[in-house]
Amino acid sequence: MAWLIIISSVIVVWVASLVKILHGSFSSSKDDFFSNGGTFNKTRRNVLLVVAHPDDESMFFSPTFSYLTSRGYNLHVLCLSIGDADGKGNIRKYELYLACAILKVPGQQVRCLDHAELQDGFGKVWSHDLLATIIEEEVAKHGIDLIITFDDYGVSGHCNHRDVHHGVRKLLHDTSQQDIEAWELVSTNLLRKYSGPVDIWLSYLCALRCSSGVTHCFINEHPRKSFLAMAQHSSQWVWFRKLFVALSSYTYVNTLRRID
Ligand SMILES: [Zn+2]
Repeated sequence: MAWLIIISSVIVVWVASLVKILHGSFSSSKDDFFSNGGTFNKTRRNVLLVVAHPDDESMFFSPTFSYLTSRGYNLHVLCLSIGDADGKGNIRKYELYLACAILKVPGQQVRCLDHAELQDGFGKVWSHDLLATIIEEEVAKHGIDLIITFDDYGVSGHCNHRDVHHGVRKLLHDTSQQDIEAWELVSTNLLRKYSGPVDIWLSYLCALRCSSGVTHCFINEHPRKSFLAMAQHSSQWVWFRKLFVALSSYTYVNTLRRID
């Protein structure tokens, strides 16, 4: 009997969270990004998302896309590999452009690299100096004001994700462009990671507890678009990834933290 009550409670909380998301009534996501304490303002809206593999953008960052594009920010995507670990790199690169179109980022604002020293895979170490140089070129080319990337765990702990984070950090440390700022996607523990929409409550409370301007919580007002974007990655769209996208809190909410 106890297990029935537990399962029923989980379903009720899950549905209530989903309803809350679809009604978009969280005030945190209504605020203008970086309006508190950040230097970002209406005249500085060029944002660069830096990821490691095609599908990172849809699998982890879709609430951020939804928030920024719906408020007029100009998004660019830099993907540092074609994800060729299984020999499907060229297909995956093409799929990235399809997914970005769903996420409202035009193809000319998407760049996917196939660099000999930045190949997809566990155990492949990516040079932070090289990453910083490539990202800095992209920043200069598009007049980027702000970078968004993984944190130092990289959501899944994948070494390529973590190296991308350190590449951005290296750039912030070394660059002559003092006014560039960067934000990282906060990695959560396993329980929160697979709690689906339920995690919106904790993410929201955590963001409220932090001092203003340091953390932002974005609730995905259009979670269906996350599925649609991920479905463009046909070569990756197998049953367990469909399950992941449904259960993952990253489909419903992103917490971004400013990198010092
Ligand atoms: Zn990845």
